[in-house]
This record gives sequence, C-alpha cells and structure tokens, in this order.
Amino acid sequence: MTPLACIACGANGWTPLYRALVRCGECGFIRAAEIPTPEALAQLYSAAYFKGEEYADYLGDAPAHLENFRRRLARITAIAGPLKSLYEIGCAYGLWLQVAREAGIRVAGIDITPDGVRHSREMLGLDAAQGEFAQATLAPGAWQAFCMWDTIEHLPHPEAHLAKVAAALPAGGWFFATTGDIGSARAQREGERWRMIHPPTHLQYFSRASITRVLASHGLIVHRIESTAMCRSAYGVIEGLQILGNGPARAAARLARVLLPAALTRRLRFTMDLGDIMLVCAQKA
Ligand SMILES: [Zn+2]
Repeated sequence: MTPLACIACGANGWTPLYRALVRCGECGFIRAAEIPTPEALAQLYSAAYFKGEEYADYLGDAPAHLENFRRRLARITAIAGPLKSLYEIGCAYGLWLQVAREAGIRVAGIDITPDGVRHSREMLGLDAAQGEFAQATLAPGAWQAFCMWDTIEHLPHPEAHLAKVAAALPAGGWFFATTGDIGSARAQREGERWRMIHPPTHLQYFSRASITRVLASHGLIVHRIESTAMCRSAYGVIEGLQILGNGPARAAARLARVLLPAALTRRLRFTMDLGDIMLVCAQKA
C-alpha cells in the first residue's frame, strides 16, 4: 500500500524496487513503501535508538561527531559566507549546535528524543526544544539558516518540514542538509545491499536530482551539492559492528573491544569520503 503522492513530482504511480522500497514511475524518486504512523515513529526514536540500535553509542563517540561538525561548519561557511544564526531540526544531543555556538553563531534546535534534548539543555546549556518541528514556533526571518544532518531521510513527510523552513527563512537564507545519495556510484553498484537502506528508520532515498527537485518546489534553490567525508573512530566502528556486523566481523569486534581500551579506540579516528553521503546547500530565492 503506497497511496501517497510523490513529493518530488506529485505523480502517484509507484513500482516496487527492492527491500520494501518503491520508485516513482514518473520521476524516479525512491521511498519506503510503508510510511509509519506518528505513534510508531515515536517508539522507534526512544533513547535505545541512540544507544544500541542505530547508533552504537552516540555520546561515547562524541569526539568523532565533533570533528565531523567542525569540518562541516568550515565547509558550509566557505560556501554561504559567515552565518549569524542557525536552527537545527533533529539536533539530537546538541553537538552540532555546540560547535556552531563556539563559532559565535546564535543557535537553537529541536528534536523528538527526550534524552538528547535534556542533554542539550542541561549539560550544554543550549536552546533546544523537545517535540515535533511542526509544532515549533518560529518568527519569520528569525533564523538565517536551517540545518538537517542525516535527518531528512527519517521523516515521514519531509515536504511539510521544507514548506515550514521555506516560510520561515528570509530571502537569501540557507537550507543545509546531509543525506544518503541513492544515485551515487556506490549506491548504484551495491543496490539492495547499500548500507543506507534500512526502513523503517530511513524512509526517503534522495538522489541529487530528486532532492534538487523537491527543494525547488518549495522555493529553495540548490546552490551546491557535493559528497561529504565522514570522520569515524575505531571505537564507533567496533561498537557499530557488534550491532550491525555479520558473524565473523561481529566476533572480531567483540575481541577488539576486550583487547583495546576505549580511551585508545576513541582517539583512533579516520576520515573517509565514500561518495554516497551528500551535503546539500540551498538558498531561498
Ligand atoms: Zn515522482
């Protein structure tokens, strides 16, 4: 059952792709066949999601996330120029907002996860709200930029978020996002084995063409799309393999966890661009 109209082109003709994904017969946009209810999604994003389900140990791997965010801030300000303010949708544990605030940017954010928002507010002193972005009160023009890092693919209705962002931005304001690129060479080559394919947490599977089209329909004009490198730590890889790895990889990870102290593996960081995560920079016309 896939009754929703395509968010990229408005057509309503879907064909099965693989692993419970469907493709728009008109424009090629790909999404999960089943879009979960709000209640089912709230269950999905409990604290367990950030510790043990999708992220092995998000805060335990904070140095790697902070390194990613520092690089990303340097990159987006190189593209957009200096930013005075930004609002993050899906701010998780506040690490991006912390990095942006350190750079002198006025920041706020929202997330549905109570634990992440509590950490953001109580440990980091950030202006973070718990709830749905649909319910957030935003004064028009109050924020020069909106960010969604690895978030848009999780949303049952990203078009509603984009409409709200576009309405709130001043002319010339920015929208920045990262998400998987299902049109990338790696995603094409790996097909249904591509690591980014996991409904029901990942619901939307953008390519450069489809995200450009969706954003344009909200008056957000893509200024630049590029693949982005991700910093990982040995710690994050070892923890992640215990959850997602296959038998031998999981056994090796378990051994590594016993033999190597976390203090060491957290410091062993490397940065790789696999070409299949895109950074999207769009500007309100
Ligand atoms: Zn379409």
